[in-house]
Amino acid sequence: MTYPDHAATTLRTHRCGALRSTDVGAHVRVGGWVHGKRDLGGHVFLDLRDRDGIVQASFDPAVVGGDTLELAAAVGRESVVLVEGEVVARPPDGRNADLATGDLRVLGPAATPAIPVARARGEPLPAEEQRLRHRYLDLRRPELLGNFILRHQLMQTTRRVLSERGFLEVETPILTKPTPEGARDYLVPSRVQPGEFYALPQSPQLYKQLLMVAGFDRYFQIARCFRDEDLRADRQPEFTQIDIEASFVAPDDIYALTEDLLLALWREAGVEIRTPFPRMSHADAVERYGSDRPDLRYGLELFDASDVFRGSEFVVTRAALDAGGRVRGIRVRGGGALSRKQVDALEALAKGAGASGLLRVKRDAGALTGPAAKYLSPDAAHALDLADGDLALLVAGPDHISSPALDRVRQEVARVLDLVPAESRCFLWVTDFPLFERDPVTGTLGAVHHPFTAPRPDDEALLGQHPERVHALAYDVVLNGTELGGGSIRIADPRLQQRVFELLGIDEAMATKRFGFLLEGLRAGAPPHGGIALGFDRIAMTLAGAPSLRDVIAFPKTTQARALFEGAPSPVPEQDLRELHVRLAEPVAEASSRE
Ligand code: ASP
Repeated sequence: MTYPDHAATTLRTHRCGALRSTDVGAHVRVGGWVHGKRDLGGHVFLDLRDRDGIVQASFDPAVVGGDTLELAAAVGRESVVLVEGEVVARPPDGRNADLATGDLRVLGPAATPAIPVARARGEPLPAEEQRLRHRYLDLRRPELLGNFILRHQLMQTTRRVLSERGFLEVETPILTKPTPEGARDYLVPSRVQPGEFYALPQSPQLYKQLLMVAGFDRYFQIARCFRDEDLRADRQPEFTQIDIEASFVAPDDIYALTEDLLLALWREAGVEIRTPFPRMSHADAVERYGSDRPDLRYGLELFDASDVFRGSEFVVTRAALDAGGRVRGIRVRGGGALSRKQVDALEALAKGAGASGLLRVKRDAGALTGPAAKYLSPDAAHALDLADGDLALLVAGPDHISSPALDRVRQEVARVLDLVPAESRCFLWVTDFPLFERDPVTGTLGAVHHPFTAPRPDDEALLGQHPERVHALAYDVVLNGTELGGGSIRIADPRLQQRVFELLGIDEAMATKRFGFLLEGLRAGAPPHGGIALGFDRIAMTLAGAPSLRDVIAFPKTTQARALFEGAPSPVPEQDLRELHVRLAEPVAEASSRE
């Protein structure tokens, strides 16, 4: 058998961005995109761009023929060209090399680009909708390309670190059975099993647990997950997690492993971080910061001012205290300087988070001012620990209202007063989450993490009488107020798993139907096991210094869960639906199904 002679037909070229002054004198061929073009009195210069950078090709009328010159003068920006010639030094510093050309071929002429790729310094980006619609052009921007080069390196580092530690990379199905992670599933109808559906995985949770039952011992996957959640800024319906599970582990093992991995990832991006990370219990985090993912780059800790208001006739706080609530708030040193408008804006945030208002108490020239001041005793300023010029911002009510409201206020005060140090990184483990949360309206119990999370062994006795007081062996890793990931030690005992299902309102029949394969697995001899999942897109975004997750996902969706570039989702022909045994409840107008 003979093979074609590839060498004779190869289009392999030099890389534009790789030509150096050491290449001067060489005859080379480069392929790239026309990034920019200048015509200086008949002498045409083309900036050619590829993945590695830019080289300038010079078409000097004294050297190249008229046809080539004409072609160079006519070629459109963003066209793909092949240029051949001699490398010459670029005066005066000669750091970059130029290409004095002999030949030009236009391989891929470009229509006038819908959005510019090359921008002048300071020129704003086109609107994001335009950039998403013409994604192939946007991805040509060196900044975006840089993000993907970093993302690639982070992936390789993840694989290296984990496989060096004996973790096996295993792929789990995309067409799967629903796994509850608290969001809605994307469903895929089965053609061959009429009326039945697969779910796209919200996470590989059950599969990774079953791999532990199978004795794989240490697993990881850079896993694509799908969650059909309501629109929120900077969430993607499909996203990538570094998913990890290990057997015979306790939380400390997972903390140490995760810290090693994050250290390596940050180092890959040129940043040294310090491990181990500090830890804070969930209860402390909510008490001191009103949030289970506190930003520790600045202070503004919450404090309890209930005692200062107890017994006062001030109606707002009295009603809250009588109903068993508290008065909590933050002290803003020098906050008296905030304008009324700024404080009104803070109040609007507190109200948006559910509070009925934001109480202001200010100290000025030794006296307290604000609506509550006249109801307070003379030593209240002391009790509130306010100095002249300080401001206390308070919320009265039950903790589940004041915590989120004060969390929002705290973050905004830090932003407005510029209290967030630019370069600091505060990693934190939040530990000992509650196992369950009770729905304030229906009173039913829900899982805080997911139903497979193990209770702390010393709390198991509370499961019967006080399930909401049971702590979980669950943890989140947080950076500067953002959750990077979370995980837990899992329930390995099938009877305990069944009991937790029951508390969650999943009876035996339902448990068998939904999670029978897990329960069966646990009955087959399950090692103690646990793990974590880290949001890979978020890590890449943070390390790239990108403003949006969409800047580190090659083909992202909008907040309306649409892919603008390829136009998904889209209606499908009636016939396709029939084959899938699916009928639309209402016909969808063609126009309304597109953006
Ligand atoms: N499966 C969980 C999640 O996706 C993470 C874990 O518990 O490992 O959030």
